[in-house]
Amino acid sequence: MSRNLTGVVDWGHELLAEKISNGQLAVDLTAGNGYDTLMLWRLVGASGQVISFDIQPEALRSTQQRLEAQGATVRCWCTKDSQLEHVAGVDLVNAGHQQLRNYLPTAPHAIVANLGYFPSGDKTITTLPETTLQALQQSAELLAPCGRLAVVVYTGHPGAADEASAVDGFFSGLEPDAFQVLQFKVLNRPDAPYLLVAEKRNL
Ligand code: SAM
Repeated sequence: MSRNLTGVVDWGHELLAEKISNGQLAVDLTAGNGYDTLMLWRLVGASGQVISFDIQPEALRSTQQRLEAQGATVRCWCTKDSQLEHVAGVDLVNAGHQQLRNYLPTAPHAIVANLGYFPSGDKTITTLPETTLQALQQSAELLAPCGRLAVVVYTGHPGAADEASAVDGFFSGLEPDAFQVLQFKVLNRPDAPYLLVAEKRNL
């Protein structure tokens, strides 16, 4: 089957798949309905670990159901605010992704973020420039050498333009000697979501 050329979420998945192997750690900064977490879990395999964050319990419940339906071992953390163990399975953390560094037990080889709102919930609860930037700064710092960070940016909802501008600035400002950076944009649809990917160089 041919790919949807402008499906930036799928492009992001494909670019992460190149850099993640069985047994490694991957992170989803915005669990939502769990599609990205499921993709990462398939890539890290039965011996790997995925840690997924969301501030909305209903998003984590949706992710839990999706992952358990596929046979994943899922652990839910509602009150924990300290480092997780590096254990195979999926850890769902009810906390903001700006707290990423408090939880990671080892360096992740793939980090994904699909920004915006929970499609099945309150659309006024969105990712925000300040906390998104904090999460991205920590991601760039904590990513394993040769690891990739893929972020899908939406532009249609209130506040989205400010977040898009902040995220663009973050990726544009990554030191070229330390990161390779790529943008996937649908040029003839200015309002379409777009993808930013950074790969950490192995210095
Ligand atoms: N990756 C998801 C999927 O595969 O279904 C879609 C994510 S959805 C577009 C964005 C999610 O980000 C929402 O569920 C929202 O609750 C969550 N979110 C907003 N602010 C957050 C924060 N500071 N930390 C973690 N998650 C956040």
